[in-house]
Order: sequence, then structure tokens, then C-alpha cells
Amino acid sequence: MSTPLNGKIAFINGGSRGIGAATARRLARDGATVAIGYAASAAAAEALAADIAAAGGTALAIRADAADAAALKGAIDTVADRFGRIDILVNNAGVLHLGDVAQFSLQDFDRTVAINVRSVFVAAQAALAHMGEGGRIVNVSSTNALRMPFAGGAVYAMSKSALTGLAKGMARDLGPRGITVNNVQPGPIDTDMNPADAEFGAVMHGLMALPRHGHPDEVAAMIAYLASPEAAFVTGADLLIDGGFAA
Ligand code: NAD
Repeated sequence: MSTPLNGKIAFINGGSRGIGAATARRLARDGATVAIGYAASAAAAEALAADIAAAGGTALAIRADAADAAALKGAIDTVADRFGRIDILVNNAGVLHLGDVAQFSLQDFDRTVAINVRSVFVAAQAALAHMGEGGRIVNVSSTNALRMPFAGGAVYAMSKSALTGLAKGMARDLGPRGITVNNVQPGPIDTDMNPADAEFGAVMHGLMALPRHGHPDEVAAMIAYLASPEAAFVTGADLLIDGGFAA
């Protein structure tokens, strides 16, 4: 079995389910020690860590509310204290609040920004204190950074677009340290956030070159590539994995 991430320490912000959980499994399968950050879903995160351990990997579930900057930093520091450093940071935590812009609440706006954008910055700052040459930061953005064909998604689209500028600027700052920063931009992926069997699924399929939802494992594979030593020359990039949704 190929283990390109052997010896690496990974922190996944929002790792208990969906794309985050698939990424935890995949990075662990590739040899990394994986810390699974969660906000409310302790049971799911603990069960995932136990599954990974049963499969021969090393994983730790750790409470890390992405909306709480001090708590998120504290969790990353704890993981670094325990394992010695952080090599890979995956910023996956995200929320989708839909609502017409005329009525959208400031509370939902602020929460979206706190979780989808600010936590990426906070987690990166915290991880960088423990990250050396070869470090990897991968953010889970969205194809909605490029295309927002449905109503009510203005604030979500803004939050994912913000990651494009953030990753480009961070890539510049961190290149001299041998650290890369990239975004993956998934299209419709079959998770709690966007179940394939929802009525809206068919609408999205009508907009795609490959008319289906993606599987979380397909996104995890792209994240694993960006986290690997093979991706050393990729930085500041947005990588679409969207079945042609934005094409
Ligand atoms: P999901 O709802 O299953 O996962 C969201 C994850 O974020 C969960 O693990 C959740 O616990 C976590 N999270 C939410 N608030 C948090 C907080 N305050 N602190 C810590 N964790 C928190 O859906 P998903 O599809 O797996 O979403 C993962 C990422 O993928 C999100 O950033 C989402 O915006 C992005 N995305 C999803 C799709 C899709 O179609 N499913 C498409 C593009 C991008």
C-alpha cells in the first residue's frame, strides 16, 4: 500500500462527517496521523477516530469550534504539543445559510464569515506556528466561488470567493518557507449539506457536464494529492472538482 503521508501530522478543521470525514480516512490511509476537529458532533468524531484506529491508522478527535477563534487555536496548539508539529492543515468546516439578500440576517452573515472564512485564517495562523518546510494548507472552497446559479446563495458564494484571494496571498507569504496553500472547489457532493436525493439535486445535474453528485471520497483524493509531497509545485491554486458545473 502506498503511504505518501507517512509520518505527517494533519489537522482537519470540521472533520467529523461528509467531505471532512472522507478526508480524515484518506489521509490516515496514506499514512498521516490525523486530528479530527469538531464543534458539536463529539460522538461522530470519536467513532471516526476509532474506525481509523481499527483500520491501522492513528487518529484523535478534538473539540474545535471553528466559530470560536481562541478555541480553534487552542485545539491546534494541543495537537502540535501532542504530536510535535503540524504538517497538513485541511480547512473543511463550512456552513451554508441560504436566504434572499433582501432579508438575510446579519447574524447568519457573521456566522458564515466566521466559519467559512475567518476560521481558515485563524487555523492557518495557529498551524503555522508549528509548521515547517513541506507544510501544506488545503481549504475546501466551492464551485460557487465561480458560479452561483441558484437563488439565496450570495453570502455563501462570497465566503468561498474570499478563499481565492486568501489562498493566493498566503501562498505568496509562505512560498519562501516551502509551504503551499491551495483551495479545492467541489461542485455538488453527496453529503448532509447537499444530499444527492434532494429535489434540488436534479436541477444541479441539469447544469453539469457529468450529471451526478460527486462522492466525498473523490474530493478527499484531490485533497490528499495537494497534501502530498508530489504537489510541491502547486500553490495559490483553485482546483475545481465539480463534474463540469462551472464549465
Ligand atoms: P457537511 O455539512 O456534512 O460538513 C460540514 C462540516 O463542517 C461538518 O463536519 C460540520 O460539523 C463542520 N462544521 C460546521 N460548523 C462548524 C463549526 N462551527 N466548527 C467546526 N466544524 C464545523 O457538508 P460537506 O459537504 O461535507 O461540507 C464540507 C465543506 O465542503 C464545507 O466547507 C462546504 O461548504 C464545502 N462544499 C460542499 C459542497 C457539497 O455539495 N456538499 C460543495 C462545495 C463545497
